[in-house]
Amino acid sequence: MTLRTLERVAHDLRSALSDLEPERLSGPDASRLLEVFAEIEKLAAAGKLLSARRVESSNVWRKKGHRSAAAHIATATGTGLGPAINALEAARQLRRLPATDEALRDGRLSETQVKEIAGAAILQPEAERELVEAAEKQPLNVLKLRCSRVKATGRDQNASYASIRRGRYLRNWTDGDGAVRFDARLTPDEGARLLAAVTARADQLAVEAKRSGLAEPLKALAADALVGLACGGVRTGAPGRRGTGGPGGRGRGPTTMVHVRVDHQALVRGRVGRGEICEIPGIGPIPVEVARRLAVDSILSVLVTKGVDVAAVAHVGRTIPASVRRALHERDPVCVVPGCGLAEGLEIDHVEPFGQGGETVLSNLVRLCHWHHYLKTHQRHRLEATEDGWRWISPDDSRARGFALEPSG
Ligand SMILES: [Zn+2]
Repeated sequence: MTLRTLERVAHDLRSALSDLEPERLSGPDASRLLEVFAEIEKLAAAGKLLSARRVESSNVWRKKGHRSAAAHIATATGTGLGPAINALEAARQLRRLPATDEALRDGRLSETQVKEIAGAAILQPEAERELVEAAEKQPLNVLKLRCSRVKATGRDQNASYASIRRGRYLRNWTDGDGAVRFDARLTPDEGARLLAAVTARADQLAVEAKRSGLAEPLKALAADALVGLACGGVRTGAPGRRGTGGPGGRGRGPTTMVHVRVDHQALVRGRVGRGEICEIPGIGPIPVEVARRLAVDSILSVLVTKGVDVAAVAHVGRTIPASVRRALHERDPVCVVPGCGLAEGLEIDHVEPFGQGGETVLSNLVRLCHWHHYLKTHQRHRLEATEDGWRWISPDDSRARGFALEPSG
């Protein structure tokens, strides 16, 4: 029986590996061993693809409580949902691609090669054989290029567009770190429009970041840009920020509403204690610090809880009225930190942080450059009111100690 045989093969493989001491191998033997394992891997990939197809058609995934066949496969193979979806698609296409199917079962194609070939050959079956041969002789990047060309010529462009349009989606999930991730599929024009808008906004942010002396990777700024554009120009990472050209750049109040469920004690203390909650419902836990920041940026709907029972519901409106913004502009034409002098891209800061009871009144608000805002919000720097203005206090204020060069040698 095949299953029994394969289980024995897996067992033999496992014991071969436990005895393997690669350092004792000669170079040529190591090279041969690599080839053998590559072949085993290809054969295993073939087995996975073929059985994945049956997992889907047999509905066993439903009985096992998975949301989809792809979810079942992702769990069983330890891969992500995206790769599992692609694998299933290739497995389905194999039924109509005999040459690919044969090469796969023969251990001549890797899973990646099969996915590439299947996606192209399904559109232009007469190119299948040539692609299988190319896969065996040419590097993967060449194969990918050939496949993309076959795809471009083999498909009815209108039908293909219509199909992408019909299948468009935006989905999200929360990854193992608790970060929110997105995957979108858009028609090329809509994708391009979105990318153009995001890129333009990210470029603006890059200019602002550079002025503030910050070097942030473009992909990070692109993420900020996307959030800013979608949510009306309010950026989570930069409280009170007002974009220069983007939406929300005219002193409009926050347009996003974020719901956070947090224990009042945790909000006051700054971290979650035993049995307490601080989370965005439907997404997952967030640090209390982030909840406080959300409170500064958006209208934070705080569900103050005690354990799992909702004890009270409070809405904390955190819009800075236009009149206050104008007054701040007048009063703080440059970053208030002595000696800074930056006048552009300034952000509004609560001197006494909002999360600690600071009010949204002119006397508790200042304008800071992005860098000083960052230091104050995240690096425990403080502002102290004095008779001649603000004093900037570093967490380890060492100015009194002075500074001397050590003699060398
Ligand atoms: Zn500054």
